[in-house]
Amino acid sequence: MTSKRFLGTGAEIAAMTNRLGSFEKITRFDDHEHKECGALAYGLGHIEDSCHRILNDWLPQLTANDASEEQIFEALDELALQIKHLLWHAKDSRYIEGYLF
Ligand SMILES: [Zn+2]
Repeated sequence: MTSKRFLGTGAEIAAMTNRLGSFEKITRFDDHEHKECGALAYGLGHIEDSCHRILNDWLPQLTANDASEEQIFEALDELALQIKHLLWHAKDSRYIEGYLF
């Protein structure tokens, strides 16, 4: 598993927001209440965090040979919550939302 983070700090999110905000393919989703560059950068940071939790915490617990029933269902519940979190941020980004379903 990798522990490297790409969007783990406020400075990294701000830099990504500024970079994405320079592209018309992103800013075309803006309106007076929504700035897509910020929603996308912030959301990607949270998506990165959920992916780390899934890969580093919950899939290992779920697949451990000695996992108890309680540990398996704890892992499944946490995986479901992380997937819900991923989907929430995917839908919050108008750019990503266009790829959903
Ligand atoms: Zn979040």
